[in-house]
Order: sequence, then C-alpha cells, then structure tokens
Amino acid sequence: MSQIEDSGYEGEALRLLKQADCDIGDIIRVSSKGKVYEGILIPRPELGEGTIVIVKMKSGYNVGIKVTKDVKLEKVGKGTKPTFASPPIPKQNPALPHVVIMSTGGTIASRVDYRTGAVRSAISASDLYGVVPELADVARVDTEIVFSLYSENITQKQWTELAETVAKRIEQGVDGVVIAHGTDTMAYTSAALSFALQNLPVPVIVVGAQRSSDRPSSDAATNLIGAVKAAGEAPFAEVGLAMHETVSDIGIVVHRGTKVRKCHTSRRDTFKSINGFPIAKVKDLQVTMQTDQYQHRDAKKKLVLKPNFSEKVALVKFYPGLDPAIIDFYVEKGFKGILLEGSGLGHVSKFCFDAIKRAVAKGVLVALASQCIWGRVNMNVYDTGRDLLSFGVVPLDEMFPETGLVKLMWVLGQTDEVEEAKKLLKTNIAGEFSLRTLPQEKILEGGQ
Ligand code: ASP
Repeated sequence: MSQIEDSGYEGEALRLLKQADCDIGDIIRVSSKGKVYEGILIPRPELGEGTIVIVKMKSGYNVGIKVTKDVKLEKVGKGTKPTFASPPIPKQNPALPHVVIMSTGGTIASRVDYRTGAVRSAISASDLYGVVPELADVARVDTEIVFSLYSENITQKQWTELAETVAKRIEQGVDGVVIAHGTDTMAYTSAALSFALQNLPVPVIVVGAQRSSDRPSSDAATNLIGAVKAAGEAPFAEVGLAMHETVSDIGIVVHRGTKVRKCHTSRRDTFKSINGFPIAKVKDLQVTMQTDQYQHRDAKKKLVLKPNFSEKVALVKFYPGLDPAIIDFYVEKGFKGILLEGSGLGHVSKFCFDAIKRAVAKGVLVALASQCIWGRVNMNVYDTGRDLLSFGVVPLDEMFPETGLVKLMWVLGQTDEVEEAKKLLKTNIAGEFSLRTLPQEKILEGGQ
C-alpha cells in the first residue's frame, strides 16, 4: 500500500509525488532552480512544511526542496523495504536460572530504519535474545510478547494485562521476570506492578534503553544482561527498574519500582532513585545489594495478584493562576480520585479551596503530592496546608506525583469505599512510604 497519502506531503508536492508514482523510501531526483538533488524520499518531519520535499542524500544529509510549479520531480529507483531477520536463538544451559523476558515495545525493542532515520518498534523479546547472545551465559531465557507499544501509549489496561501475564509465569515457577519496556512511562509501570504484584517470590525487573539495540551506542545489551542477571540470581524479590548507572557501559543499577523517576530526556543514566536509594547494582555480572532493607527471594512465597486500576483518577498540577474549574470538571465527569500536585510542602492556592471542598463532598478522594519531587509533604507548617488537611485532602508524604498517581489509581481499583481507600492509600504496600526521607545530597549533587 502506498504510504504517500500518509507521508505528510500536500499541495503541489503531493501532486508531483503521486504523478511520478513515488512512495516513501523510493529514490527520487528533484530539479529546482538549476540544481539537481538525488536521494531517498523520506516522510515530512512532524513540524515540517507539507510542500517541502525531504530527500536523504548519499552523504546522509537531508535536504528540503520547496516544490513550486517550475520544480521537476522524477522517480529514479524503487525503494527496498527494511527487513530484519531474527538471529538464531542461542543454546540453553540447564544449570542456569530460568528467566522469562517479556517484550512490551519501546526503544529497547526498536530498530532504526536507516533509509529514513526513523525508529520503529519492530523486534520481539525473542529477537532481543538473539541480538544479545551473551544472555545465554546468564540464564535459561524464555521469551513472550505481551504487546508492542511505545510506552506513551500504555494505559491502565496494559498494566493489568502485564501483571496477570507476570503472575501466570511466576505461578509456573520461573526464577525471575524481565520486562522490556519503553522508558518514557517505565517508572509508572514499575510502580503499577509494585502495587499489583504483592508478596513476590522472585524479582520482576523492568528494563529499557535510551538508544535502540542496533545503534553502536545502544545501552540495550548492558541493561538487558544486567536485568536478566538480577532477575535470575539477586536475593531480593520486588519490582525493580534496571538501567545504566552512569553514562558509560560499566554497569546497571536496580531502582525500587515505587521510588524511581525518568529524569533526563536522553542520557543513558536517565533514571534516578527519588527519596530512596537503589536496591542493587550489577557490574561485571556480579549483583551487589545496596541495602539490607528489601523483600527476600523465596520460592515458597505465594504471590498475591491485585491487578485492577481505576481509569477515573486525574492529576491536577498546581501552578500560579490555575483555574479551579478543572477540579469541578473532573468531578462532573465522574472521577473518583484527584491527585493535586501541590507546591512546596504541600500547598495549592486558596482560590482552589471551594472546588476542593465540592470534590470531597461528592465523595472524590483528593490526595496531594509535592511537585518538588525531592523531600516530603508537610501540611502542618503553613495554614494553607492545614486548611487543605481540614477539607479532607490526604497528604502523600514522600511519594512523588507519578507514584502517587499510580497508587491512587490502584487504590480506587481495589475499593469504591472512600474511607477504606484512604486507609489503603496511606498503607505502605511496596516501599513507597518510609519513616523518614533519607538524605539525598549525593543524588542532588549528581551522584547515585
Ligand atoms: N517513546 C519511547 C517509549 O517510551 C522511548 C523509549 O523507549 O525510550 O516507548
């Protein structure tokens, strides 16, 4: 099927491309103002103008040519579709632990289309296993595709599906589970699984990559090997999130599923533990625990699966001038929970007070986490905080907004009873609360 209609080109450019029977990936020659450009036709960049045709030249550079009436455009060669043949699955060593790698999509399961430079979600968990043959020396690996989505497209439905799939595999007796996932919302998923999979007998490690596995600079192999090692052998049994510890390929760090956040758009060490410390590190195929406060691996433990999440929970970020009508809007739409992302120690402007009172009166569970990210909410210091507490707003202490939001979705997936939900929200389920927030100076200074 021709991709030209969906390529983003329009007007004279689209007309000429269609007339010359061009498709994305074809080799075209464009003559304009006495100059000739020859190369691969690539789709219009998202923010590009539809009448400027983009050609990838032999040099690798992209050239944009404005198509007007006097431009000549012809097709000089048919493009070849990118193909990827899955490498053979390595031989298994029966002495090694049994780990299942599940794929859900994202950069770790993507390949670059070198014709156009675009990254596509294209490879499965078993392809990953083939691409990283070293895994065969770390574990007996089984693979399973759960879904294939960029993580920005993952919702509560997929968290439920994933939790149920992991539970099934754990009940079958695997020694650990690794979930290859897009990094954008990976920390939300790790929090969701932390609440959904309780009393785990073995580790469940979510892993991603900032660069796709076929790029020379990819972090996929190091992250995957480290994650599989930890899943198969580490002494803890919690949901963890494994990624590069630093920008270099030296080793990975496993963060607690409820205490981790994506903090950088592109660095390989983008994930940091927030208001807590990593559980473990894996370097030179050695797992070292970073704390003695963890849930222990024990094959005899019986997993408790609680995979439901409410879709009727909203996050409202406070900012100067926030229109409180947004709170009323969610209440009218039947939302059951609202997480306020408050300022500082836990505040929102007094102009929101009436809307918050109306929400609470309608039985909506209103909670608050701080947009400061580091530190904990203390709503007893200023009268704004005290007022909010008196309206029934539930402070989420050290939980930063993402984990707070996922917890609220999970809590309201367990019960409709507001008082019961409040109690559950304040109960420590997966290390999201600790008695005091540990000093994070080292992290704030850029260390781990
Ligand atoms: N947008 C991608 C995703 O989250 C980015 C990544 O995988 O790193 O799926």
